Amino acid sequence: MEVTNDNGCSWIKDLNPRQNIKALSDNLSTNWLIIGAGFTGLSAARKLGEILPKEKIIIVDAQLAGDGASGRNSGYLVDTTLNDGFTSNKELESYKKKADIYDLGIKAVKNFIKEYQVDCDWNECGKYFASSKREDIKILNNFSNTLEKLGYDHDILNNDQLTNRLGTNFYNVGLYTKGGILLHPGKLVRAMVDTLPKNVDLYENSSLLEWSREKDLINCKFKNNLIKTKKIIFATNGFLRSLGIKKKYNFPITLTASMTRPLTDQEFETLGSPKEWGVLPVRPMGATIRMTRNRRILIRNTAELNNPNYMSPSLLKKRSIKQKLGIKKRFPQLPDDIIESSWSGVVSRTRNSSQIFEKIDKNIFVAGCYNGSGIGVGTLFGEQIVLKAIKENSKEIEIIESRSKPTWLPPNPFLNLGVKSRLIYERFRARSEI
Ligand SMILES: Cc1cc2nc3c(=O)[nH]c(=O)nc-3n(C[C@H](O)[C@H](O)[C@H](O)COP(=O)(O)OP(=O)(O)OC[C@H]3O[C@@H](n4cnc5c(N)ncnc54)[C@H](O)[C@@H]3O)c2cc1C
Repeated sequence: MEVTNDNGCSWIKDLNPRQNIKALSDNLSTNWLIIGAGFTGLSAARKLGEILPKEKIIIVDAQLAGDGASGRNSGYLVDTTLNDGFTSNKELESYKKKADIYDLGIKAVKNFIKEYQVDCDWNECGKYFASSKREDIKILNNFSNTLEKLGYDHDILNNDQLTNRLGTNFYNVGLYTKGGILLHPGKLVRAMVDTLPKNVDLYENSSLLEWSREKDLINCKFKNNLIKTKKIIFATNGFLRSLGIKKKYNFPITLTASMTRPLTDQEFETLGSPKEWGVLPVRPMGATIRMTRNRRILIRNTAELNNPNYMSPSLLKKRSIKQKLGIKKRFPQLPDDIIESSWSGVVSRTRNSSQIFEKIDKNIFVAGCYNGSGIGVGTLFGEQIVLKAIKENSKEIEIIESRSKPTWLPPNPFLNLGVKSRLIYERFRARSEI
């Protein structure tokens, strides 16, 4: 059950090491316990701490707060995504519901950074969906129709335009959306840790091993200690399933990414000195690739079923080689040895890409499964699950709950077989885009 992370992520290495780290060392009892300190859990803790200033709130994480997927993602705060089908009016309606949630997520993050004056390299530079395959223009035109109907500003781009803006002539077709923000996820999540209200107690390096209900209390067992709580919010995303939560509706996927060192002036000039940009793939298993503010290239091009608690250094090394090749394909002029760090991170997926936002039993709440939109939607869901837990309503909750619920997954071994074959198929379809 222990979560063992690599400590390779450049985003996290950019931050000052924290001093005030406290692990669980006593048995405790509380009215409110939050498990997981990423965007979801930290937002929940902040909101709860503000609403109930006299209550003691406990938040616990298996590793350092923010060092999970929240601090090690690609940093796209998305307004739209491409990987759902949307051709009929019904699909358009469900796409709109999804996009409305993204919009609320962006607002939640914006409010947070405004209120606490957070510097997280925020850049409202929009984003690209791009492909080297000319036939993918069909997918992009279809997407463009959807965006048109919903009023999202966007442009279809050709190879020349993409080469000018990105500094690589790898992509032949693309679609640029004006909405969407690029940011430094490590800085954002660190700010959420640093601004926790005074009545929130954070315990780190403390894994929840088991939990069970005993009448009106929930007993949470950690390595040497027990926390008894009246109410609990599970915000462990990729680790929901391993804690037995909504097991029939979500499964973990491990992603890996690499980041180069900052490019030298000379290297940067060979790319035409582009402005900061971010590209998302047109095909689901293609690469996400970014030019950061300080001229580093980030690439994420793998997604797989793996033990969520651990990825071995040798497997990570193999994935890093894939990322090196991905960079080489797009920027053949850059040297081979410019990758500074490689890391893995775990997310949770549902079959129909719907999120989980629920009371699963009396006084037990859960929020997760954001499918590449967890920066905004995690921040939003953390705040809103707290309102749900204190029985307050909000227009946000209405919007969140009007989306379709996650659909049922088959049990193992059928689930793993199904997911593996789907991943193999998608990988094959996107093989030129990795
Ligand atoms: C490589 C990568 C790229 C991504 N790119 C993007 C992107 O560009 N944009 C975007 O919006 N999203 C992206 N995502 C997804 C995004 O990072 C997640 O959706 C988001 O971090 C979810 O936040 P969370 O707080 O729910 O979960 P997490 O950040 O995963 O936090 C959950 C926490 O729970 C803790 N935990 C787990 N088990 C236990 C336990 N038993 N006891 C105590 N604590 C426990 C973990 O240690 C972890 O800190 C990416 C993810 C990865 C890995």
